[in-house]
Amino acid sequence: MAKRDYYEVLGVNRNASADDIKRAYRRLAMKYHPDKNPGDKEAEGKFKECAEAYEVLSDADKRKQYDQFGHDGLRGAGMHDYSRMHVEDISDMFSDIFGDFFGGGRRGGGRRSASRAVRGYDLETTVELSLEEIAHGAEKTIEFTRQDTCSVCSGSGCNPGSSPVPCSTCGGAGQVQRAGLGGFFQMVSTCPACGGAGRVIADPCRKCRGTGQVPKQRTLEVKIPAGVHEGQGIRVNGEGEPGRNGGPRGDLYCYVRVKAHPFLMRDGNDLVCTVPISFTQAALGATIDVPTLDGTRQLRVPPGTQHGSLFRIKSEGIADLRTGHKGDELVRISIEIPRRLTSEQERLLRAFAETEDRQVMPESKGFFDKLKQHFGNSR
Ligand SMILES: [Zn+2]
Ligand SMILES: [Zn+2]
Repeated sequence: MAKRDYYEVLGVNRNASADDIKRAYRRLAMKYHPDKNPGDKEAEGKFKECAEAYEVLSDADKRKQYDQFGHDGLRGAGMHDYSRMHVEDISDMFSDIFGDFFGGGRRGGGRRSASRAVRGYDLETTVELSLEEIAHGAEKTIEFTRQDTCSVCSGSGCNPGSSPVPCSTCGGAGQVQRAGLGGFFQMVSTCPACGGAGRVIADPCRKCRGTGQVPKQRTLEVKIPAGVHEGQGIRVNGEGEPGRNGGPRGDLYCYVRVKAHPFLMRDGNDLVCTVPISFTQAALGATIDVPTLDGTRQLRVPPGTQHGSLFRIKSEGIADLRTGHKGDELVRISIEIPRRLTSEQERLLRAFAETEDRQVMPESKGFFDKLKQHFGNSR
């Protein structure tokens, strides 16, 4: 997705003063702060977007680069990747802006971001279901890859026999300080070298390359409730990526894809199918077999059935996910005209045509009368 203009993100014009920018950011950051919008991913995205815009526009050098060259001007400028950062770390970075507004007791903790338990990321996967499975609910086997604790280093990231050493960049504090624009405030940010841990791994584990985690295939049985819709996500608690510092795993979201059915199409909770019948069946009436989710059943088609007629079979649709109320099956009739006739059939049909009285085809009579009125009897 294309990045938005930073001035637009903060809602300030291009010659806004440093104070204007700071005020605008403070207002937006408070508005979108996840503490105020729990579970709201869109707000979290906006919160991060504002932080990124503020990092640039509050820094005279970066702002100048950005004004001249746009987003391209910031390549290699040491920008944080906000989309991957945790909200608490962003709040810590701009702690002077937020003051004690959020989580006041956290201030002065020094190494808190390194030791705080953080929930793992959520994972996504898709699960493909037949229409029958959608109708009845199903238990599906899901295979996906997620991170697991490395078996060689037990998650420490260190080559067995070695241990982490103090970080030389931050002297073990886990945070670094730098002056903000014009010295108005000090920005405290997580140490980029150690990620706030205060220690770094000098001799990383060969298997996990120091991350302490390795990707592992996982197989799960997931219960899919009856009535789910295409694109709907089913959350499986605690099956996402592992947390940090003893935090819980994230969740797994299984997004539903529905396989095409040879006869039935879903329309809300109704099912629709088109059934071909011959013109003699349509004219004389017939009992026909129609497909349903649970095999075929018989449908009585009355004499004189027209092409496109719709018949409703009550409660043969899909049960509503919430109410359990069942939809219907709608059978649309398609009348087929024989492409070829035996000579016997042709003889009978010609005889039939001779008996044809306009009284039995009111629609045709109306049509040809109108045609005559319009063009006159030209032939
Ligand atoms: Zn460090
Ligand atoms: Zn390892």
